[in-house]
Amino acid sequence: MTEATGFLKGLKVDAAREKAIDELRVRGALDKIEPIQHQTPICSRSLNPIEFISSDAWYLKQLEFREDLKRLAHEMEFRPLRHRQLLLDWTESLTIDWPISRRRFYHTEIPLWYCKKCGETLAPPPGKYYRPWKDPAPFSKCPKCGSSEFVGEDRVFDTWMDSSVSNLFLTRYRSDPAFFKANFPVSLRCQGREIVRTWLYYTTLKSWLVRQSKPFHRVFIHGLGLDARGRAMHRTLGNVIDPWPLIKKHGADAMRLFVASETNPGDDFRISEAKVGGAAKFVTKLWNVARFISSFEEPKEGKLLPSDEWILAELNHLMEASRGAYEDLNLFVPSNRSREFLWNLFAPHYMEMVKARAYEGDTGARWTLHACLRDFLRLLAPIAPFSTDKIYRSVYHGSVHAEAFPVEREEIPRSRTEATEKIVAFNGDVWKRKRDQGLPLNVELSGIVIPAELKPFEDDLRRMHRLA
Ligand SMILES: [Zn+2]
Repeated sequence: MTEATGFLKGLKVDAAREKAIDELRVRGALDKIEPIQHQTPICSRSLNPIEFISSDAWYLKQLEFREDLKRLAHEMEFRPLRHRQLLLDWTESLTIDWPISRRRFYHTEIPLWYCKKCGETLAPPPGKYYRPWKDPAPFSKCPKCGSSEFVGEDRVFDTWMDSSVSNLFLTRYRSDPAFFKANFPVSLRCQGREIVRTWLYYTTLKSWLVRQSKPFHRVFIHGLGLDARGRAMHRTLGNVIDPWPLIKKHGADAMRLFVASETNPGDDFRISEAKVGGAAKFVTKLWNVARFISSFEEPKEGKLLPSDEWILAELNHLMEASRGAYEDLNLFVPSNRSREFLWNLFAPHYMEMVKARAYEGDTGARWTLHACLRDFLRLLAPIAPFSTDKIYRSVYHGSVHAEAFPVEREEIPRSRTEATEKIVAFNGDVWKRKRDQGLPLNVELSGIVIPAELKPFEDDLRRMHRLA
């Protein structure tokens, strides 16, 4: 309590409340005490009522650079594009300069001393880390009044004063000029949506102040993982999901696949253990597919049959879509397309169609199985880096991460994919007939006519279903 409160001066808020009530009682002015409800802003973490306490602070200028910062926001490429608006809106909404001094125990000390006699502010020479509240002052006398007594600053910087230097630090600003020149601005910032107004904004401000430059060429903003009811996680809500037990149970690749395939880039997503478990099943599927294929020797070349060309055409399709998406920093498309390819086409249809040929040593089937596995592992490696690498090292030797992105085989006719729906429908139909008749899938079946459009695949289909 300040001077203005008279007899309450010097007390903390709670004590002042007590004393005010006592005083009312003493003066006979207290009529009654009863509970009432009223709105008070509280801290979301401690739940304490918020008090306004005025104090002096250091500020960094930002308002006068507003237009420059907005221009830099337009110079950076955003993914998704719409999240640039988060930065622009924040920049537009600023009403004060940035208060950068804080009263906290642990953070980067503000390197300043003050002259005890005249109050002059003194900054030490650069190049050393200073703790002014503890270290002796690095000056012999005040340049203004000649006094030799100083008081060290005991406040620290706001968190983002440090965090906003990450791009300068990583590109070795002022320590390796050649490296800095080659790497600044940094190619990519990847960060969450909730810290655009802090991490991204302050990094942009600092890069402007220090280099008059944008901090990054591209910015990838990802969404938030929410709880099952779609709420952001807060300690006070008790809904924080610790990822570590999920990763330990289902694997890191399953977690990564889940996040990549759950939403379009930049959207929030609900964390679901069932879906992480589903992604883990996909990893197991990949493992089993690889084990099957690795049982066949990989021929140098193979004579391709229509079924082989068909799956290679589908693989071309997958590579093309995934490459475009990856270049656009979109993990949603490759993760989902890969899953559809392996789970819905390659394993149930193609593998079953060519199994017999592969066992007999047919080079076309064996070559295609390996080509698909090799390319698939390279294609999925950015999203599932651990399992793809483990498989690649075991089957093909060397790390998948040292391989180039797979390239489409132009010699495979695109038109082969026209058969996809018909193959899937035909196989589904035969499986259903056997199921309906209570027959095991490997039993012979007669009376099935192969549709004219599937004639090129007839031999493989007949052997797959044992059609008489
Ligand atoms: Zn002085």
